[in-house]
Amino acid sequence: MLTKLKNHSKTDNFSYFIHFFAVFTGIFIVMTVIILQVMRFGIYSSIDASLQSAKENIDRYVYLSMTKTISGIPQDYFINDDNPIERQMVANTDIIIYDNKGRILNDIDIFSNLQNIHLKTDEIGSIVPIKTTNIIGAEELYRTVTLNISSYDYPSVAYATVVINTTQLENISQRYVKIIITVMIIFWLISVVTSLYLAKWSSQPLRESYEKQKSFVENASHELRTPLSVLQNRLENLLRRPNTTILESTESLASSLDEVRNMRILTTNLLHLARRDEGIKADIKEISPDFFGTLFHNYQIVAEENHRVFKGINHLKVSFKSDETILKQLITILFDNAIKYTEESGEILVEVIPKDKQILIRVIDNGIGIKDQDKLKIFDRFYRVDKARTRQKGGFGLGLSLAKQLATVLKATITVSDNTPKGTIFELKINK
Ligand code: ADP
Repeated sequence: MLTKLKNHSKTDNFSYFIHFFAVFTGIFIVMTVIILQVMRFGIYSSIDASLQSAKENIDRYVYLSMTKTISGIPQDYFINDDNPIERQMVANTDIIIYDNKGRILNDIDIFSNLQNIHLKTDEIGSIVPIKTTNIIGAEELYRTVTLNISSYDYPSVAYATVVINTTQLENISQRYVKIIITVMIIFWLISVVTSLYLAKWSSQPLRESYEKQKSFVENASHELRTPLSVLQNRLENLLRRPNTTILESTESLASSLDEVRNMRILTTNLLHLARRDEGIKADIKEISPDFFGTLFHNYQIVAEENHRVFKGINHLKVSFKSDETILKQLITILFDNAIKYTEESGEILVEVIPKDKQILIRVIDNGIGIKDQDKLKIFDRFYRVDKARTRQKGGFGLGLSLAKQLATVLKATITVSDNTPKGTIFELKINK
């Protein structure tokens, strides 16, 4: 059973891990793609803007370049410094001017590698990336745009290609791409560890509730086994003596009936607990202080029937907000216990005390008391201090665990302490 449970939680862990890991991987892939796209777009957007502005001013570019080629006077001389577009022209833009046979007409720096860019007329007007090899054999990258030209001043000019060298930018961008991918891989690896941790963390409550459920079922079936075997035994005895009268078997029948009654109490309690496990919602309403008066009156009757002395004191004068049914059930569990665990003519006091923003409800008895080592355990399901004795009194160790659940629903706390000289005090603290 334990190995089964272990295997079960291992598979759960693994499937949680796979889910978390898949989500992290997805997030990192999407993040990487988005970052790279944004980066590429950012890098080329300013270059493409320059090419666009060159396209719009191409006639001026052609004129300046051809004038420089023919006259030998540097084009800076002709540039209008007041015009930002013309200032930008020299900064990062080159121009290659072709005749209609694709021959270069303008003066091009011999080391610039631009003469290796040949005329291509298939994508006129659009931005085209180009790769060439320079004189030392290294790769050079450009973004270019080629346009048809008809110049009045220079009729031989047929085409012009505006060129921007992007080799350095591309190198930088590749370095960034490497850095980004490395960082993402590192985070992805960290996500393996994180997924493992999260898988363990999220399957923990599931495991705990599985354990609780398991021990609950085990305890419940254990509790049912005893009365059932007693019943079986008695019934078999009766069968073995078919001639005995009911009168002769009264004792046996009475104790069988006792067991059936016990089982009924147990199954009702179990049902209550199971329902509470599904989660109940408090129905908070105004409760008048008279609520305690009626309650105390009922307790008085029960106490008298059980030969106990009961006293109810209510100091609360104003109404408060809570769930009436749950509160009644809660106090009654404590009251029932006080009756069960006091001797004949024992005294039980229920006190209601308003305090700042709280209401204290104390159920005090002068009964057998609870040892310190048991005080924490009594709220566990099926825990009884003295099994034989409590069973005799019809207890299954479920009352206080139910009380604790009910207190949680009311957002109240329940504590236990010793009464002097003997007995127990259960205190309920309810926020008003
Ligand atoms: P049960 O149905 O057995 O009374 P509870 O959960 O109500 O189950 O109580 C758990 C155990 O705590 C009891 O078996 C009993 O030993 C102890 N207990 C509860 N209330 C009192 C009390 N007022 N005085 C002494 N012992 C108590």
